[in-house]
Amino acid sequence: MCKIKPFELQFEHQALLIKFVFFIKIFKMGDQGFLKQKPGFATIAIHAGQDPSKWESSAVVAPIVTSTTFKQTGPAEYKDFDYGRSGNPTRNTLEECLAALDGGKHALAFASGLGAITTITSLLSQKDHILCCDDVYGGTNRLLRNVVQRMGIEISFADFTIEDSIKKEIKENTKMIWVETPTNPLLKVIDLTAVVNIAKGKGILIAVDNTFLTPYLQRPLDFGVDIVMYSITKYMNGHSDVIMGAAVVNDSDLEKRLRFLQNSMGIVPSPMDCYLVNRSLKTLAIRMEQHKKSALVVANWLLKHPKIVEVMHPGLPFHPQYEIAKRQMTGHSGTFSFKHSGDLKESKKMLSALKVFTLAESLGGYESLAELPTLMTHASVPEEQRTRLGITHNLIRLSVGLEDVEDLINDLDQAIKVAFE
Ligand SMILES: *Cc1c(COP(=O)(O)O)cnc(C)c1O
Repeated sequence: MCKIKPFELQFEHQALLIKFVFFIKIFKMGDQGFLKQKPGFATIAIHAGQDPSKWESSAVVAPIVTSTTFKQTGPAEYKDFDYGRSGNPTRNTLEECLAALDGGKHALAFASGLGAITTITSLLSQKDHILCCDDVYGGTNRLLRNVVQRMGIEISFADFTIEDSIKKEIKENTKMIWVETPTNPLLKVIDLTAVVNIAKGKGILIAVDNTFLTPYLQRPLDFGVDIVMYSITKYMNGHSDVIMGAAVVNDSDLEKRLRFLQNSMGIVPSPMDCYLVNRSLKTLAIRMEQHKKSALVVANWLLKHPKIVEVMHPGLPFHPQYEIAKRQMTGHSGTFSFKHSGDLKESKKMLSALKVFTLAESLGGYESLAELPTLMTHASVPEEQRTRLGITHNLIRLSVGLEDVEDLINDLDQAIKVAFE
């Protein structure tokens, strides 16, 4: 005989329902309410494109094929490869892995990040217009203003954190929107869904520079953008020993056009470098997980320091675009910026006093780096544009590496003391 009264039965059901809803919420959310990491990422990084049966030797580790040319069975009769610029077995292996990591159909590797951007912007023609977010990598800014513009392509910049400023800047001839999120060096987060909705149906290609996050922390194709671009030089390779770039796309026609440009313009990486990057990707997931954790610890420590006036890190709850960050990122990487209460003199003293952090440009390697954007990475950005954006002499950018985080904090502590003594 059933002893549960109807009321209790109802109550039990409700409790179960609450538990279930809670479970669903937890399941969808990652750390701190950020997007949850797609399952299988580390497995894809290790196995995608790496099938040993594609090599006659059944090599488990993809071989480095250095040959620039491939024997043909008759004139213009060959299997997969004819000439090394057009395709190379080691490069193709890397490209397959890169495409899979972003959930994309195709990936193309280039000789550098800027080589990738040069190729992508070459999809356009004279009189076309590129709308770019204002706080963009210094080299991208320089390429667009000093090279691409000279080829007859119009360039303009806008603050992409304000949707109306994107809408206002779109013209009849706008053919590409260039997004970098989070931005560099101010770590503003741009809403990818909003940009996609604004550009929808207008025949505008949206390209996203995903260098700061890698597909481990953000997958722009999932939000409907057309092209994901990387400076592989940074986190993707992660060992500060290769300069390389990449583009990932879903659309096969777009892939064909980019493939044509990759071959025609010749901005291709070497098989040796492709081997190194393919190998580096095998540890991308665990590297990014550690960068993410350590950088948050360092950011929280800086927040409490009396000489630090601002910490720009999308993983901190008071970040102006924290809610957007949680919707489109699974977390933030090791790169962020802060402002201290001094000026150029204190920045110089602090950076020169660092012992574990290395004073150097770049980011995303296993070693921690610190730099002064005004004189280093962003020196090529016109001073007027820098000042307007707030890239000032007291702004320091860190790339938190994989050393013990206590050592990094102790190093910053002593360097800040030296700067202000
Ligand atoms: C470094 C970097 C680039 C340029 O890449 P290279 O590999 O140095 O040519 C582009 N975008 C971002 C965000 C970068 O950090």
